[in-house]
Amino acid sequence: MSRRPSGELIGCSDCGLVQLLPEVASDAIAECARCGRGLARPARGNVDPALALLVAALLLLLPAAFSPLMVITSFGVRRQDWLPSGVEAMWNDGFGSLATVVFLFSIAIPFLYLGLMISVLLGIRLRAAMPLGRLFRWAGRLRPWMMIEVYLIGGCVAYTRLQDIGTVEVGVGGWCLVGATLAMLLAGIGFDERAVWEALPSRVAPHSGRQSVSCGICELLLDARQEHSGCPRCGATLRRRKPQAMRRTLALVIAGFLLYLPANLLPVLAIERFGREDPNTILGGVGELIESGLWPLAVIVFTASVMVPLIKLFGLSLMLILTRLHSPRWLRGRTRLYRAIDLIGRWSNIDLFMISILVALVQFGTLTTVRPEPGALAFAAVVVITMLASRSFDARLMWDAAGERP
Ligand SMILES: [Zn+2]
Ligand SMILES: [Zn+2]
Repeated sequence: MSRRPSGELIGCSDCGLVQLLPEVASDAIAECARCGRGLARPARGNVDPALALLVAALLLLLPAAFSPLMVITSFGVRRQDWLPSGVEAMWNDGFGSLATVVFLFSIAIPFLYLGLMISVLLGIRLRAAMPLGRLFRWAGRLRPWMMIEVYLIGGCVAYTRLQDIGTVEVGVGGWCLVGATLAMLLAGIGFDERAVWEALPSRVAPHSGRQSVSCGICELLLDARQEHSGCPRCGATLRRRKPQAMRRTLALVIAGFLLYLPANLLPVLAIERFGREDPNTILGGVGELIESGLWPLAVIVFTASVMVPLIKLFGLSLMLILTRLHSPRWLRGRTRLYRAIDLIGRWSNIDLFMISILVALVQFGTLTTVRPEPGALAFAAVVVITMLASRSFDARLMWDAAGERP
């Protein structure tokens, strides 16, 4: 790929400002002039390192899915945990919806996402005649729901909690999962999304920037008359703003608040030892980590499970209220908070994955058995609903409402 072509007009997807994307120096990041959103990374214009790392991640994820992640020995019995075992165990315990969520986030979507990303980058390299824009858009949609790095942290928490029950060893699959996650994270660091969009032909005449509609996905700027038709570059339906954004977000935020209490007050799992049942809430789990002296993990779990959903719910409420009041307060800060909220939401799933691993591994009959409890359902619902809430909100509405229309 050549250097970044200078002079593409884009409409920032966080604040709506129409601006000329500048040529960027090799150590600089192009930011939106109004809200500070990173528009383009340094113009390296090279997708090869990301492609190599994503292929490595896929190759490592295969053994991670098909060999044991962890092995526990307790009361002379050996049990192995595989990536799909948590799904199976939750399904067998009558928690089909939890099993489905864990299956999608930890197995189906990661493979689908890696497959799509590799096809797109390979397609660009080989100049393949494929609808690469559409594939890249789908990959972007799936990215927040692809949670192998979150699963890995859930696995670490499960590993430490299992120390009380038996001798735990990390299996080949576990190490491959660590490798796959590292490769994925490295691929993300050096990757410039803008370089992919610019490598894809869009077959449109450059637009003057007046009376325009910008694609919410690839930020391509088009004539306003093309609203409601498909974006010529990525295929997304062109809309000036996300449809019904305020109402949808409000409904999801209310549902999130309603489910937050049962998610934190009801037990999410029950440990049965020698016939005595010990129900565990999310906070109880944090307490256990503190008792075992595992402060860093306790802080991570407390932040991810208890604080992050609250920050999201209150943050989105503040955005809804200030937008409704047409307030120009903290617009830049609010937009930054919105980006952060959208990014961190997925980390709340640590506890859900931890539960799925414990349920799969700790099945020693009457000696020790772990079962999921209804609180886990409410908890998973809060995480998914708050993620959907931040996805359905449109940060550009805050700028519109404050009278700063481009
Ligand atoms: Zn902006
Ligand atoms: Zn587009």
